Amino acid sequence: MNNPSVSTGTWYRAPWEQTTSTTANGLFNWLSVKYGAMTDSRAFCPRCGEPVPDRTASDDDSGHDPLRPGADVDLCDACYFEGFEFVDAPDRIDVRVCSTCGAVHRGRRWLDVGAQDYTDIAIEEVSEALSVHVDVSDVAWQVEPEQIDPNTIRMHCYFTGTVRGTPVEEQLTVPVRIARQTCTRCGRISGDYYASIVQIRAEGRTPTSEEVERAKVIANRTVADMEATGDRNAFVTEMSETADGLDIKVSTNKIGKKIAYKMTEEYGGTVNDAETLVTEDEDGNGVYRVTFAVRLPPYVPGDVIDLTDDDGGPVLVTSARGNLKGKRLSTGERYEASYEEGNNPDARKLGDRSDAVEATLVTVEDERAIQILDPETYQAKTIAKPANFDPDADTVPVIKSRAGLHILPDDG
Ligand SMILES: [Zn+2]
Ligand SMILES: [Zn+2]
Repeated sequence: MNNPSVSTGTWYRAPWEQTTSTTANGLFNWLSVKYGAMTDSRAFCPRCGEPVPDRTASDDDSGHDPLRPGADVDLCDACYFEGFEFVDAPDRIDVRVCSTCGAVHRGRRWLDVGAQDYTDIAIEEVSEALSVHVDVSDVAWQVEPEQIDPNTIRMHCYFTGTVRGTPVEEQLTVPVRIARQTCTRCGRISGDYYASIVQIRAEGRTPTSEEVERAKVIANRTVADMEATGDRNAFVTEMSETADGLDIKVSTNKIGKKIAYKMTEEYGGTVNDAETLVTEDEDGNGVYRVTFAVRLPPYVPGDVIDLTDDDGGPVLVTSARGNLKGKRLSTGERYEASYEEGNNPDARKLGDRSDAVEATLVTVEDERAIQILDPETYQAKTIAKPANFDPDADTVPVIKSRAGLHILPDDG
């Protein structure tokens, strides 16, 4: 706030120390005439010339900042209160509020203020716009909103405080005008704006429903995490399932990239990105829309595959991240594809866990063989006894291929 004596106090406070200011010397002369030689530290009100108590001796040192000599403490109380203004408030406040999400426009940005209603926003804006004189201590204020019409709230404010040991109070009314608008984010959302597309696809198959649902969760979570850090421009524009997978349109390239890499981190596979120039911004820089194409691995955990040129028997896939990994159904031995094969060794899919049917165990023949009933033909078949086989089981889950019946292990 405008301090009534700051502009002159610098030299009024101790004129005898000033040597360069002619005005100061002029005043010194005037003071000397009026009060005689200054041999002690008595101070005088710079406005009316009345002696004032030496405030350095009192316990009130609020105005004695050595970096700001001559703060207004040297005014006598009468002069001080004459120019004293407790509260500085604008005549009225105009607020731009997004009618969709409640964000408030402040400075050059839209901010989420977490307000419940327009009265909350009005109170918040008034407290932002008001200032109280720096000398006042124990400031308290209360406000009573009066709704005039849907877009006008009259704020009746009442302030109390203490300055120079004197209680002060002030009452004022600030009208707040609410302008209902649409913020940048809500405008973009309603305009189906997007900056990036994530395409969830898989090699030689369509993504499983689990993968599709997981991609949706990752997309929503990524946006929620970014919103939580105060990013107002993070949103999912649209998620649509297509014949080959899922397309996710999002508001920024950064979000698209995060979703794509999170998917391959969890499921394996690759990401390819391609930029398309869509427009230029006001500075002539290209604005690109980036498509992140996620290609999930051809096999997923739970698939049973038969490797080409391999006589170790079918493999139950346990991981498709990095090189394909699995377990031989006949022996329980670990299998891992070579680096060159990666997640896509030459193989044929026999089925997956969901294709398994329960076959009745007829008998355990010996250390190496058991007899089960073929669930389709009900003929007894002798097959190799798997590792960790439970001889007390009544039935075992099996999957059938051209090569015969294969028992699936209970665990992954
Ligand atoms: Zn005075
Ligand atoms: Zn909005």
